[in-house]
Amino acid sequence: MATVTFRGVTRRFHGTTRNAVDRFDLEIGDGEFLVMVGPSGCGKTTTLRMLAGLEPVDSGSIHIGERDVTNVPPKDRDMAMVFQSYGLYPHMTVEQNIGFPLRTSGMPKAQRAVKVREAVDLLGLGELLHRRPGELSGGQRQRVAMGRAIVREPQVFLMDEPLSNLDAKLRVQTRTQIASLQNRLGVTTVYVTHDQTEAMTMGDRIAVLNHGKLQQVGAPQELYDAPANEFVASFIGSPAMTIWSTRLRGGMLDLGGASTRVPDTVAQLAGDREVRVGLRAEDFAVAADGETGLRMRVDLVEELGSDGYLYGRAALPGGELPLTVRVDGRHHAQIGDTVTVLPNTRRLHLFDAATGERL
Ligand code: ATP
Repeated sequence: MATVTFRGVTRRFHGTTRNAVDRFDLEIGDGEFLVMVGPSGCGKTTTLRMLAGLEPVDSGSIHIGERDVTNVPPKDRDMAMVFQSYGLYPHMTVEQNIGFPLRTSGMPKAQRAVKVREAVDLLGLGELLHRRPGELSGGQRQRVAMGRAIVREPQVFLMDEPLSNLDAKLRVQTRTQIASLQNRLGVTTVYVTHDQTEAMTMGDRIAVLNHGKLQQVGAPQELYDAPANEFVASFIGSPAMTIWSTRLRGGMLDLGGASTRVPDTVAQLAGDREVRVGLRAEDFAVAADGETGLRMRVDLVEELGSDGYLYGRAALPGGELPLTVRVDGRHHAQIGDTVTVLPNTRRLHLFDAATGERL
């Protein structure tokens, strides 16, 4: 079983004051597609490199199935890595590049040809066999790099931002291809990206990191619907959730003039105090004439066809609140308009003002 387990894995670089990866615990299931996501510098690459054996572990351990691989050299870990830079050999053809790991492992030529053919068919590279990397597009090079990983039939695939050199359209196409390929092959995969859309669309589960610490791990929808803290709430979902400070008093939440009752469970837990409250763009509705709600001045209109977003500000007693509101594609607000929006109070996310943890 190619499960991957991190137990309290920690790494600190020489001369730094903070752990780059701090007591990282995670269990990845056999055949699972796990996406690690987080902002630049959060420790994703370091975590992946420790799993690959390219970076030492200061404390904690890493296991593949039952085997402790913490101190096992990279070549003996039975993993294949696809990097952002692809790492193809420029003087070799597509066929030679894909077959390279098999040649170095001493596989006979005839058997190698069969394996390469299988990978080439899977990836739709049949017509490019005799080209060199310099004669391929970015997307084709990316597929050759995938092919080289596939032929090794590893227990685990590791991918570090493999789509970041592709243009936006190709990235969307290729992410679907990688996800369906992984699904067909059923190989445990750890995929690193800073792009939350990639994480949401590709992963069986997503692990969100910040400052070297695991913030939350769960299915994409779980993270979207019930973010464990304010960081996950603002990182997952595009456009970002609107989050503001307000007061919770006697089970009532002040929403800029209007007040709303919170569920009893939260009221008991939270008592009377400052809280942070979050709402996604789709959880605001534009009010009909005469209804009262948050008065928002529109600063920017983004029309996407089927729907759109209004970006603006609402004046609250404590200051201005920057708001993002999703509207129907046929809504024709203009920059400078004032619209009244109604928060869907059943969809509020509440966070502790001091710790940022979900209430
Ligand atoms: P990015 O998305 O920008 O690649 P990341 O999430 O992959 O970022 P890491 O590359 O894992 O982040 O880096 C985590 C932290 O460790 C960062 O603060 C980084 O500056 C630091 N770091 C990484 N490599 C080294 C090194 N060799 N020496 C010192 N500090 C390092």
